[in-house]
Amino acid sequence: MDNYDVVIIGAGPAGLRCAEMLEKSDKTVLLLEKNKVVGPKVCGGGLPNKDLESFDIPDKLLEKKFNSMTIHSPLFQNEIKSVDEFLYTIDREKFGQWQLGKINQNKVQVRINTRVKEVQSDFVVLDTDEKIVFKYLIGADGANSIVRKYLGLKTEKFCVAIQYIIPSNQYKKLEFFFDSRLFNSWYAWIFPRQDFVSIGCGCNTNKLSAKKLRENFNLWLDKNKIDISKGEYQAYTINYDYQGHKFGNIFLAGESAGLTSGLTGEGIQAALVSGEEVAKSVLDENYKSEKIDKIVQVSNRHSKILNFLDRLGIFRNLALGLISIPLKSKKLQEIINKSLFH
Ligand SMILES: Cc1cc2nc3c(=O)[nH]c(=O)nc-3n(C[C@H](O)[C@H](O)[C@H](O)COP(=O)(O)OP(=O)(O)OC[C@H]3O[C@@H](n4cnc5c(N)ncnc54)[C@H](O)[C@@H]3O)c2cc1C
Repeated sequence: MDNYDVVIIGAGPAGLRCAEMLEKSDKTVLLLEKNKVVGPKVCGGGLPNKDLESFDIPDKLLEKKFNSMTIHSPLFQNEIKSVDEFLYTIDREKFGQWQLGKINQNKVQVRINTRVKEVQSDFVVLDTDEKIVFKYLIGADGANSIVRKYLGLKTEKFCVAIQYIIPSNQYKKLEFFFDSRLFNSWYAWIFPRQDFVSIGCGCNTNKLSAKKLRENFNLWLDKNKIDISKGEYQAYTINYDYQGHKFGNIFLAGESAGLTSGLTGEGIQAALVSGEEVAKSVLDENYKSEKIDKIVQVSNRHSKILNFLDRLGIFRNLALGLISIPLKSKKLQEIINKSLFH
């Protein structure tokens, strides 16, 4: 039976960042990933240009950079331009491989193709029935986290997001489509990527079943004459039900902790930040993470907006259309940006 100071489950942005931070300590660290390849994940790959400095992401990983977006609603259509680039797109496989490459594997043991099937208070069991003992366990295992389940945390706030990955260079603009009849308070997106485009949508399944969402998405694709015949369909859940990240010797980071936005579905940046912050909490048991508090504050604000939109009923389309109008003014852009995302 192997023994480690720290076992991290999941080599997504949260787990990889956590491993990178712990590598500098004297702890023995094991990172376990169920997939054969580190990186790929059902994701639009949109990375907001916000507080990214400390991660030193090389420019070559930023596929596309956007300083404008078009917002469509049944009532309005607006192109919004900003002086600064506010969103990049990244390829999740390349991003994961870059993060993995930064980890010194003489110090952190990385085991891919290794699924954890059971969690106990001081050991985990792999698919092979091998037991691994830990002092600290970090669940960085995403929306359907086995560690979260072990902790008995229910996930009541979650969305389903679906997308087609279509090999096409035809789409150049970043576009968001609000239509409450199809997506309730959520939206559909077009994210142009390097050699393909991600076209997707999402919704809280308390409001619209996953089946209905897909039917509505197909209607919307037809209406917008989007050819999906060469596209790959993908779907996954997004957990935004944060209930804490420290539970004795067990921690949650990234989406397993529910650190995403229920309003926008973004979670990559929160995963990177929380992965780093959880590593600091392991190294110093008195560490209090202001950065995670901040993510939670922003995410709670997003949940309130989502609830408000949900309650608007038939006026939602009007409200969603009106949202884009103040964004035309630079001053109001700044105010909205600050109050929504900082
Ligand atoms: C359709 C869709 C579009 C999205 N678009 C965006 C976007 O544009 N921008 C954005 O910021 N966010 C987006 N998100 C959310 C984003 O993908 C996640 O928030 C982010 O990946 C969370 O990172 P993480 O490290 O916490 O978890 P993950 O990236 O999910 O990584 C978890 C890792 O744990 C591994 N794992 C799970 N269980 C086990 C186990 N039992 N044993 C071993 N390994 C395990 C998984 O294989 C995975 O590699 C989107 C999500 C969806 C579904």
